[in-house]
Amino acid sequence: MPIIVQKYGGSSIESIEKIRNVAKRISECRKKGFDLVVVVSAMGKTTDYLIDMAHQVSSKPKKREMDVLMSTGEQVSISLLSIALNDIGIAAVSYTGPQLGIKTEGYHTKSRISEIDKEVILSEINRGKVVIVAGFQGVNEKNEITTLGRGGSDTTAVAIAAKLECPCEIYTDVDGVYTVDPRLYPSARKLESISYDEMLELASSGAGVLHTRSIELAEIYNVPLTVALNTGDIKGTIIKELDETMEKTAITGLAVDNSESMITLNGVPHDIKIIADIFAKIAELDINIDMISQTTPINKLVSISFTLPKIDLPQAINILEQYKEKIFTFSYDTFDNISKLTVIGIGMKSQSGVASKMFNILAENDISVHIITTSEIKISYVINPEDQQKAIEAVAREYNL
Ligand code: ADP
Ligand code: ASP
Ligand code: MG
Repeated sequence: MPIIVQKYGGSSIESIEKIRNVAKRISECRKKGFDLVVVVSAMGKTTDYLIDMAHQVSSKPKKREMDVLMSTGEQVSISLLSIALNDIGIAAVSYTGPQLGIKTEGYHTKSRISEIDKEVILSEINRGKVVIVAGFQGVNEKNEITTLGRGGSDTTAVAIAAKLECPCEIYTDVDGVYTVDPRLYPSARKLESISYDEMLELASSGAGVLHTRSIELAEIYNVPLTVALNTGDIKGTIIKELDETMEKTAITGLAVDNSESMITLNGVPHDIKIIADIFAKIAELDINIDMISQTTPINKLVSISFTLPKIDLPQAINILEQYKEKIFTFSYDTFDNISKLTVIGIGMKSQSGVASKMFNILAENDISVHIITTSEIKISYVINPEDQQKAIEAVAREYNL
């Protein structure tokens, strides 16, 4: 029988009633003749709740322990879904990531899947079982529990589909991928399909509908990937290879990210060694810097602005304090509330004028921009959060998003 990997996120299984509904959907799919591997996340907001508890116990919980804690959420979901399935006569068996040999590498709380042992999954399928897998978790080379970063269950699902060479269906609380997050812009349009590359840029620029790594894996292993609503049969969005229709529009979508903060370094000597040293110290802490801009030197001094995840701001400040002592001209400002707005479109490769039109839109609406970065298919702008809604609406209107 053909195998499908399905994934249900937290909102799809936030209550016992919803878990029963998912069990019913799985049973209908079984009746249509499919073998199923079902990946689930933690129920509702469980992961947030677990993180919050850890922070009540300590302001600096160890990341290793956070992984042990956070992975428990998914274990509750897999067992309950398996119990619900067995209760309605569908043979099912649940597995945690480590039990299935989902090996990971990299840092705690943001590990990457390096290997999956498909034998256990296939032998359970051969015994006629639906295999229920805990998303978001694995085990590293030291045999420690790891997690894949927030939203990582999508990546577990795609990685398993890649290994089994089968399609992957992501079921969630929206009926597909929209031009803009419908929570931010309710008149956004649903996309019938989107290319892997555009989806990758949308997700990495803040569109939380899919975990970024899941799209990378889907593209590398050519996994047919669909995002659809967790109830009903509404056709979702297909994420696939580029086709010729996709290049016609300049802008396919807009993403907003509010998880970043910005630091501006002032009075930095225009000496590449010093600048490289500052960024090397930040990189040593595994802090991911996203956007950077530098002014032209005045009196041999430059200002440099860059963005980094909000949660890493305190660590970065610790480093910068050391430079205040070493370089007398040096000072810095931090902005913990910024808004990063990104427009994405494969059509930008062949159509000119997107950047100038964007400048016009922002200027006409009195929106000031702090940093801009571009790639072949996207332009990102750091703006003040007060201007965010105005900017979304103006850009969406101009580009018919
Ligand atoms: P799950 O719990 O199923 O993993 P998520 O909350 O991670 O669900 O992802 C679904 C949410 O992603 C939607 O509720 C929606 O608000 C948000 N989202 C962000 N950008 C987009 C987009 N471009 N299209 C659709 N949904 C989006
Ligand atoms: N439960 C995890 C989270 O909330 C993983 C996921 O939802 O995909 O981030
Ligand atoms: Mg998610």
